[in-house]
Amino acid sequence: MPVEPIPTLTLNTGAAMPALGAGVFRVDDAQPVVTAALMCGYRLIDTAASYDNEASVGRAIAGSGLPRTDLFVTSKLGNSDQGHDATLDAVDASLERLGLDYLDLYLIHWPVPARGRYVETWTAMAEIAASGRARAVGVSNFLAAHLQALRAATDLVPAVNQVELHPGYPRDDLRTLHAQLGITTEAWSPLARGDALLGRPDVQALAVEVGCSPAQLILRWHLDRGHVTVVKSVHPERMAQNLGAVDVILTDAQLRTLDKLDGPGRVGPDPMTFDAH
Ligand code: NDP
Repeated sequence: MPVEPIPTLTLNTGAAMPALGAGVFRVDDAQPVVTAALMCGYRLIDTAASYDNEASVGRAIAGSGLPRTDLFVTSKLGNSDQGHDATLDAVDASLERLGLDYLDLYLIHWPVPARGRYVETWTAMAEIAASGRARAVGVSNFLAAHLQALRAATDLVPAVNQVELHPGYPRDDLRTLHAQLGITTEAWSPLARGDALLGRPDVQALAVEVGCSPAQLILRWHLDRGHVTVVKSVHPERMAQNLGAVDVILTDAQLRTLDKLDGPGRVGPDPMTFDAH
């Protein structure tokens, strides 16, 4: 367990969201991974209908003995379930698989602009928030144009936009827009999925200078830049190491060095085209 508590950010709903959490993308059986994460001290768990592991996440939560109010559980709407009525059915299906009465955060996973359904879907997300099935609703992988389309059509501002973000792909313009609109930025693939970032000689040298691991260095950058961050590991010792980022201290000069990394750029799909067909 880290010495310092995991910081929280306040969403535009007034709810507190842990700034560092555990993601389970590409984890088929999430039960042992989420169990280990909760034992390690993580309280934010990030899953999605498309990860096909909500039931195993739910078993880990049920088996943890932790009060529901201590946890922050996020899931995401599958792209094929976009549309008003399908969205309402999909959140109920996710809740049933998870064995939960409510989600802390429910996200539209991708905008899929070619299908033109994300604004209609957002009206259903507003109903889900009003019904209490999700305490907060938001989006994921939305670009500025998609956020502006929601703004033009509805009064509800997404609580969160969960996007690929890491040093080398810092999304400065999008983060500025989020701040203007009152949307909390959440980073996925915060380590750029591993070696492309953690294996860089400059990142490794800076980690030695700071006295932490490369992953802790990068996660501390996220914490200091004010994002929520979800990181994935299936190894308990790495989970603990990653959580230890909350105890790392970086100078302004070290943060600026990370701000200026010249890569690796985007490692995940392009939101304009992902799942378009
Ligand atoms: P990450 O940047 O979290 O990187 C995960 C990779 O880094 C894994 O290979 C892991 O290996 C390795 N790793 C983790 N910790 C360490 C460490 N301390 N030292 C060395 N290697 C390490 O990428 P993800 O793509 O998994 O993103 C994290 C989460 O973000 C996902 O699980 C998911 O919840 C969310 N996400 C959301 C998306 C969206 O569209 N909304 C898209 C993609 C991800 P190992 O497991 O073997 O330790």
